[in-house]
Order: sequence, then C-alpha cells, then structure tokens
Amino acid sequence: SIMPATLSAISQSAKNGVLFKGGIHVENLSHLKAIAFDKTGTLTNGKPVITDSYFDSNIEIDNVLAIVGSIEKESTHPLAQALTEYSFKDLENFRNTVEVKDMKTIVGNGVSAYINDEKWEVGKAALVGEKNAFEFHNGIANQLAEEGKTIVFAKHKDKIVALFALKDTIRNDTQKAIKTLKKQGIHTVMLTGDNEKTAHAIAKEAGVDHYIAECLPEEKVNYVKDLRKKYKNVAMVGDGINDAPALASANVGIAMGEGTDVALETADVVLMKSDLPKITNAIHLSSRMNKIV
Ligand code: ADP
Ligand code: MG
Repeated sequence: SIMPATLSAISQSAKNGVLFKGGIHVENLSHLKAIAFDKTGTLTNGKPVITDSYFDSNIEIDNVLAIVGSIEKESTHPLAQALTEYSFKDLENFRNTVEVKDMKTIVGNGVSAYINDEKWEVGKAALVGEKNAFEFHNGIANQLAEEGKTIVFAKHKDKIVALFALKDTIRNDTQKAIKTLKKQGIHTVMLTGDNEKTAHAIAKEAGVDHYIAECLPEEKVNYVKDLRKKYKNVAMVGDGINDAPALASANVGIAMGEGTDVALETADVVLMKSDLPKITNAIHLSSRMNKIV
C-alpha cells in the first residue's frame, strides 16, 4: 500500500506538471546521484534548421535536392523533416519527387535507398566514410561541427555529393536545469548519436559534467548500466523511440511530455510540458517526502 506522504508528493507533483507512475519512483528520485540526458529533443528543442549546404561541383544541385528530399520524406527522424522542407523549398512544388526504392534506416547513422537502381546514402560521417566526409570541401565539416551543428552527408554510389549542416538550439531552461542539478550534487551526462565535435559544443553550452558522442541506442543502455554501478541511483531523460531502452534501464526513466508515445509509455516519470527545471523541483519534493516517511 502507498504511504500518505508519498501519495501527497505524487499529487503535488502532478499539479506541478510532473507525473509519477508510482510511489517507488518518488523514493528512487529522492536518492538520485546521476542523471543522463539525450541531446536532440531533450536538452535541445529538437527542431533543427539547415544553416549551410555544400555540393560537389560536378553534380546537378536540384537533382540531388530532389533525391535527398524524397528519401528523407520517408524517414521519421527529427532531422528528416528539416531536410525534406529544405530540399523542396526551391524546387517547384514537389514536382521533382523521385521514386524511392528499398529505403532502409541505419539506426543512429542515417538512411539508404535506391533511386533508378543506384544506391544513395544520407547520414553522418560514420555512414558515408569518415575520411571522405572530412575531406569534402576542404574539411568544412569540422568547422561546422565545432559550431555545434549536426552534419548530414549525401552519398551517391561511392561519392559524397552534398553536405548539410543543421543547427538545433538548446532549450531556454537547459542551462538553468543542469546548474541546479549540479548544485544538488547530481552528476550530469549527455548521451548522443551525433558526432564528437557537435556533441562537445552542445555539451559545453548545456554545462553537463560529461558527454558521450556516437552513442547507438544499445550503447546508451550499456552506459546507463555503467552509471548505475558507479552511482547506484540513476535517471535517464529522453524523448525518442530510440531512447526507450535506456529509459527502461535507468532506476528512473523520465520522458519529455512532447516526446514520442513509446518514450512516454516506457518512462516512470513524465514531464508534462517538456519542462526540464521541473526535474529539480520533483527531486526536492521527493527528498522532503522521504524525510517524512
Ligand atoms: P541523437 O542521439 O542525437 O538523437 P540519433 O542516434 O538518432 O541521434 O542519430 C545520430 C546521427 O545519425 C544524427 O546526428 C545524424 O547525423 C544521423 N542520422 C540519423 N538518422 C538520419 C536521417 N534520417 N537522415 C540523416 N541523418 C540521420
Ligand atoms: Mg531525442
């Protein structure tokens, strides 16, 4: 049975926009020692916009845009919508949509598909080949990544033909939330599938103690498990389908309220308005409740 003090903490939190799915999570949150965050859509707004694009000088730009737009139109990744809109923006009303065959998602990397029986890949450097990726346009990718931008390449057969840089802004209240958590003595980490340079820039801006880049969904799970060995009580905060396994492997899985259904269902705690500072309030309330119990 649930203690009256726990019940009171749950109902008070709900009024505050933090939904606990059970009393045990209040207890766990009160002993929190470390917290891991997903990057895109959690520490950032998750609405990337394209800031730069570069193309191979021997290709027809409109043709590549029509292909990239048509491929990304089929993807549900947070970057896909921005890439689709950007690609079709200057083309006449989607008239250039091409037929996409055998589209595949390569988790944490990008997508591949066939257009007119020729292979195309759209995604990060690790997908299209690090060496060629960083030589494209005299290493422009490095510079853009240092600005905290996510880099997406388009590869046609064996050749990189385009680069897109996408900038996602960190949430207004991210820095405040991280600062307060650190003051509460909680170790803060960012986990992302994005590349090292971009991850570094965003982690620095957010102010987290530590970050892990190029982190696949199953690696996020392993990392959370490692944190549990070291810190005992660990929370994971995320919004995406990809984050669900990591949410489940933490002592407390916390989902952003505007996140995907899978994340909301898997989580133990839901932040109703994707409001990060609410985590610190909830921890505070949980500790107070714990003292009463
Ligand atoms: P995160 O952990 O930051 O949410 P993901 O693991 O989902 O990131 O993806 C890692 C990286 O893979 C992205 O930063 C991007 O470079 C690339 N990527 C994934 N899906 C796509 C896609 N549909 N189109 C282009 N690039 C993609
Ligand atoms: Mg995310």
